[in-house]
Amino acid sequence: MARRLKKLHIKTFGCQMNAYDSERMAEALQPAGYELTKSLGDADLVILNTCHIREKAAEKVYSELGRVRLTKEARKAHGHDQMVAVAGCVAQAEGHELIARAPVVDIVVGPQSLHRLADLVAEAQSTGERSVETEFPAEDKFAALPPRAQGKRQVSAFVTVQEGCDKFCTFCVVPYTRGAEYSRKPAEIVAEVERLAARGVREITLLGQNVNAYHGDGPDRAAWSLARLLQRLAEIPAIERLRFTTSHPHDMDDDLIALFGDEPKLMPYLHLPFQAGSDRILAAMNRKHTAADYEALIEQIRAARPDIALSTDIIVGFPGETDTDFEATLSLVRRVRFAQAFSFKYSARPGTPAADLDGQVPDSVKKERLAVLQTLLEDSRHDFDRATVGRRLPVLFEGKGRKTGQITGRSPYLQAVHVEGPDALIGYIAEVDISAAGPNSLTGVMKSGFEWREPVQAAV
Ligand code: SF4
Repeated sequence: MARRLKKLHIKTFGCQMNAYDSERMAEALQPAGYELTKSLGDADLVILNTCHIREKAAEKVYSELGRVRLTKEARKAHGHDQMVAVAGCVAQAEGHELIARAPVVDIVVGPQSLHRLADLVAEAQSTGERSVETEFPAEDKFAALPPRAQGKRQVSAFVTVQEGCDKFCTFCVVPYTRGAEYSRKPAEIVAEVERLAARGVREITLLGQNVNAYHGDGPDRAAWSLARLLQRLAEIPAIERLRFTTSHPHDMDDDLIALFGDEPKLMPYLHLPFQAGSDRILAAMNRKHTAADYEALIEQIRAARPDIALSTDIIVGFPGETDTDFEATLSLVRRVRFAQAFSFKYSARPGTPAADLDGQVPDSVKKERLAVLQTLLEDSRHDFDRATVGRRLPVLFEGKGRKTGQITGRSPYLQAVHVEGPDALIGYIAEVDISAAGPNSLTGVMKSGFEWREPVQAAV
């Protein structure tokens, strides 16, 4: 008789690195007989993969656990067990507190220990004991995870190449929840990307909290930079597009900048947070760069790749921020002209140095400043999008559009593009004449008599 597959439900909060971790956890649990379900009520095992970046992150996890408790009780009433694990950065930060405050939780596992998840589940099932695993283990987590599973059709994939951060920006929890900077070995990354290529992936986004600080031990015993790693990955024939995120201005080296001009597979899009335009605030944030450093870098990047789409993160209302400081942020935004941006009101993270600084800015002021900034950023984004109207761009198609007969993909600048076209084009790159820029996406027309580029078959 066939073995009954157990159901696994993962709810992922936060960044792309968490999305990647969730995929790896699902794959690591496959050999133990778990398959994914979208239904919380059907799940034998529930994982909340949490994020600590947003305000009141821990409280949000506790209220989510309240909902999970109701489902677990309902299942129990029908004679079915449900195991609950909390993973990610809130798990790391809260640790034993989660077990103490939330009886529904069976397993707490930090991001550095997720390769142990299958063992922790098996142990909890056999002993009935609850467990907490939030150490930073000495073994290489990535080497201990099973290789990427085959079979799942996907056009674009994330690959984490670096974790943790040594920068200690005073507002940020990452150095405490993800630990010190760590880079995976290039050989391990190349093998993972080759497996992804073999299952149809055409675009890879390399992830890291501070990805451009990457320095992996190369097979030639040299430390490989991110530029060197990207060059190697560009040699994999079936991979057509490469991207990376998130970068720190301090770690943008000349080789990486030059690669934007030299390597056609490296897409002209760069997410480079600057956080604030005032040097006084940048120093209080411990950002290790000034506004002038940032602008000089942008000039160098644009000299290498003039059409590059620049994206950024900005915080408003950092402790001590005056109207003049805020004006410096607006002025930098006006000069750089970003294609995309993520802007936030400062909110204190317990345990970070900035949480204890004097001069906390009232919420009403932060709200006002954020509204002004976001209007400016939206204008800048629309200007960038409008400038692509009338151009012919290669679009990598990722899926069906919302309307019948429509398919959707991404331009080299990461803009969403909708066109009328056959589903058979999904997974391929085709030339599109951009005809209009909407609020959040572009529309276009497939070049008449188009030819699509057949991807080169992967060797693996
Ligand atoms: S560089 Fe990024 S991840 Fe590192 S401390 Fe600063 S904001 Fe956090």
